[in-house]
Amino acid sequence: MASNDVLRGRTFYFSHFDIAKFFNSERCSMCGQMIGHPDTPEVLTCGYVTPMSVEYVGLPTSYFWSWVCTSCFEQYGKAMNWSKTEGIPPDLPREEVRAFRRAWNERARQQRKRDSNWHEQYPFAQTGWSVQDAVGIARLHGFEISDELGRQLLEEHEGAILSAMDGAAVRAILGLLRREYAVEIEARIEAEADGKGAV
Ligand SMILES: [Zn+2]
Repeated sequence: MASNDVLRGRTFYFSHFDIAKFFNSERCSMCGQMIGHPDTPEVLTCGYVTPMSVEYVGLPTSYFWSWVCTSCFEQYGKAMNWSKTEGIPPDLPREEVRAFRRAWNERARQQRKRDSNWHEQYPFAQTGWSVQDAVGIARLHGFEISDELGRQLLEEHEGAILSAMDGAAVRAILGLLRREYAVEIEARIEAEADGKGAV
């Protein structure tokens, strides 16, 4: 019941569900029973409702309804210190509700964009190593390798490097360079030597 602490001491209206007023069918905050539009399967069309609001950092205030079904209201009302009030529930501030939805969806769009930028920039992020890391590790140990070879190494051994611990991943990269990619490195050194010889 801890997650329902925000409902402690609140005042509720008994109300029939009205889509124009409440927007969406909702679940009873205590038992999860659907309360709302008669089109929804196995729905209750009335219950106790209270207007709520919550502040998220960087977003407009979120206004929404919390519902409790009649049997939960009877069962938990005393423990939760709930009271009933007569009359019809007030309207939520509609423009603010809409502003919150727009801001929430915009934030989700921005987040998806950041995620995809990140994956583009760090395609091997899961391994914890980038192409530049692989090239840098190689250089540190006396291997001059190209970005292409660094990328190839990660593309071909991502799984092995992912499962290795930090130091072991460095050893794995060096082992691969000494054995599997020795031919490529050899060829590059020869090509450079040829180049220098020609000068
Ligand atoms: Zn309930």
